[in-house]
Amino acid sequence: MPPTDAETFDYVIVGAGSAGCVLANRLTADGRHRVLLLEFGGSDRSIFIQMPAALAYPMNTTRWNWRYESEPEPHLNNRRLHCPRGKGLGGSSSINGLVYVRGNPLDFEHWQEQGARGWGYANVLPYFKRAETRLEGGNAYRGGDGPLSTTYGTLDNPLHHAWMEAARQAGYQLTEDYNGFRQEGFGRMDMTVRNGERCSSAKAHLYDAVKRPNLQVVQHALATRILFDGTRAVGVEYERGGTLHTVRAGREVILSGGPINSVQLLKLSGIGPAQELAGHGIPVLADRAGVGANLQDHLEFYFQMACTSRSPCSAMPTCWARPGSASNGCCAARAWARPTTLNPAVSSAAAPASAIPISSTTSSRWPSITMAPRSPPSMASKPTSGRCARKAVARSRCAVPIRATRR
Ligand SMILES: Cc1cc2nc3c(=O)[nH]c(=O)nc-3n(C[C@H](O)[C@H](O)[C@H](O)COP(=O)(O)OP(=O)(O)OC[C@H]3O[C@@H](n4cnc5c(N)ncnc54)[C@H](O)[C@@H]3O)c2cc1C
Repeated sequence: MPPTDAETFDYVIVGAGSAGCVLANRLTADGRHRVLLLEFGGSDRSIFIQMPAALAYPMNTTRWNWRYESEPEPHLNNRRLHCPRGKGLGGSSSINGLVYVRGNPLDFEHWQEQGARGWGYANVLPYFKRAETRLEGGNAYRGGDGPLSTTYGTLDNPLHHAWMEAARQAGYQLTEDYNGFRQEGFGRMDMTVRNGERCSSAKAHLYDAVKRPNLQVVQHALATRILFDGTRAVGVEYERGGTLHTVRAGREVILSGGPINSVQLLKLSGIGPAQELAGHGIPVLADRAGVGANLQDHLEFYFQMACTSRSPCSAMPTCWARPGSASNGCCAARAWARPTTLNPAVSSAAAPASAIPISSTTSSRWPSITMAPRSPPSMASKPTSGRCARKAVARSRCAVPIRATRR
């Protein structure tokens, strides 16, 4: 049952994705606080989400994907790139590639050097461990009894072994566990999988938490505006079933709608670059030039190779034929290498695996892709900032036309 209008909760969380499910779980654990979790999408109960090998399906349907596209990218012959974002319980963790990979320890150290005190690797490691159950066992780097299950993919494809062997022959290191002592190297893929099924943030955090009386989850609820008392956020306006509702937050309003949608909600609520908001007739509550700027995403591209072997060993067809392979995600092996040492001949020979440059050493060398919708008119005043696009629910209430895809 949705809450009654203007009902008060301690916390109102917008978005039941990776972050929102964790927050809903942690904030209701001791029973002291009432929490409302609003999610625009619906259920994640589908074989296409739960079966790891089916991952290409949910990430390509409007039911579970907001289906954003980039603006024409000038350095890619003006092509628009897909920018999938999850919609529904679990958010992007319900449609993602199931790849479990922590940030490079040097990235955390770098943040700390730049002033983010408390974000060094030694500070964050206990939280990574606490969050995780590694099915192969916990150790100094890995968790053994957390809510998020991780496990290795099965290396049962001849190409995995050929790829690793090619790496070894080319002089690369193999790494036992890229989330453990050493990230750099070639090794087995760590996946967010439990008992052969996707372990999304919803499964890890929400399925049990939702049984608590102090947590209420409302699906198909689209947050349209943050409500303020002066400059203090005190509630959320949302649309459900064609009707606008409000809900109050005694303690906090938490935005966990992802990097595109949370930005849009801030802007619709009057927080963002003043000139841009004024252009859409949105009263400015706080002039913040950085809202919606500097979004960076990682490029991903695939090489497809014809296999000369007579035995079937391409990734996908045999995936369905081998027992247990449906529990594998997109890849079962992965490499982390410095870009200066990454040999395309090795990385591109990895049909069921992939090679990634280590971010701390490459961030300044890779292009950043910035996202903005194709239509309707962008909130962006320049092509490098972004906002989401949604269907015209509550259009009359929002100064910015919005477009969304409902299931
Ligand atoms: C296709 C794809 C593949 C990926 N692969 C990997 C991978 O293999 N490994 C990895 O580590 N990461 C991967 N990622 C990235 C990772 O999944 C995301 O970074 C992470 O899930 C983002 O978490 P979040 O909580 O910020 O947002 P999300 O998980 O996206 O959650 C946001 C939620 O908020 C909801 N929402 C948004 N706006 C509103 C609103 N106004 N009202 C109500 N609800 C709203 C959305 O519907 C969504 O459910 C992938 C992402 C995608 C999309």
